[in-house]
Amino acid sequence: MAPLSPAYASLHGLRIGDAFGARITLPGDHPDVVGRVLPPGPWAWTDDTEMACSVLSVLDRHGHLDQDDLADHFQRHFDPDRGYGPGAERVLLRYRRGESWRDIARSVFGGGSWGNGAAMRVAPLGAWFAPELDRVVTEAAKSAEVTHAHPEGIAGAVAVAVAAALACTSPLDGGELLRAVATRVALGEVRRRIEVAAEFRGTAEEAARELGNGREVSAMDSVPLSLWLAAHHFGDFEDALWTAARVAEDVDTVCAMTGGIIAARTGYDGIPVRWRDSGEPLPRWLVPSAVYEA
Ligand SMILES: [Mg+2]
Repeated sequence: MAPLSPAYASLHGLRIGDAFGARITLPGDHPDVVGRVLPPGPWAWTDDTEMACSVLSVLDRHGHLDQDDLADHFQRHFDPDRGYGPGAERVLLRYRRGESWRDIARSVFGGGSWGNGAAMRVAPLGAWFAPELDRVVTEAAKSAEVTHAHPEGIAGAVAVAVAAALACTSPLDGGELLRAVATRVALGEVRRRIEVAAEFRGTAEEAARELGNGREVSAMDSVPLSLWLAAHHFGDFEDALWTAARVAEDVDTVCAMTGGIIAARTGYDGIPVRWRDSGEPLPRWLVPSAVYEA
């Protein structure tokens, strides 16, 4: 079978990160986390994967990010058992009732959401449009606007997508990668923290304290740490995700972003077999069917 495209490899990295992170319910200093005792499978994925599948489905169908179709995918595939945040759930149920995302996304939370929900689903889109970085930026922003229209929510999505694109098409890592990403992100707190991450020298625990660890479930609080973890762990998917489990809160989303970026570079083979097999497969409604057999 032909190797998966970088976008689908990234989706698998995102899926496994999400599903693994969702199973990590122990505190980061628990002996099983520190000792890296892999939780028994199967690990069910959450909203991060469900929404990422919608993003790729829309790209498959249109060749670009059609916002109306993305909103439609989101509401059709919304599953309340997949760990959506209460804000996202309210918005998606309004879409399901026929209200337009254009009327809602910019007004929720008084100016649009700056949660990490647009960033958590977007790494495969970055791989899809690489190496056209201008296109990566505009398509990632469009994908965010459907639910996360605040500039910081959009910035988080752009940052993750650009990181995934550069992971595919360049050899950059560490601070060099983070500096390159920052130049593509609009001025604001997400960008400021990515710039801090680019120069940061210290442990992962210190990085989480400096950059945020996902506790606020915001783009600024979780995207810079996820990018830092990916940029320093391209050679070791497993080490990246265990490190995230140790230092992050909102572990499924931090692991989804980190895993999606790393797998965009390593391909599907960069994900350890035991991890691949422990994660719930992608949903059957996703096309093309080849992704199920991978
Ligand atoms: Mg989730």
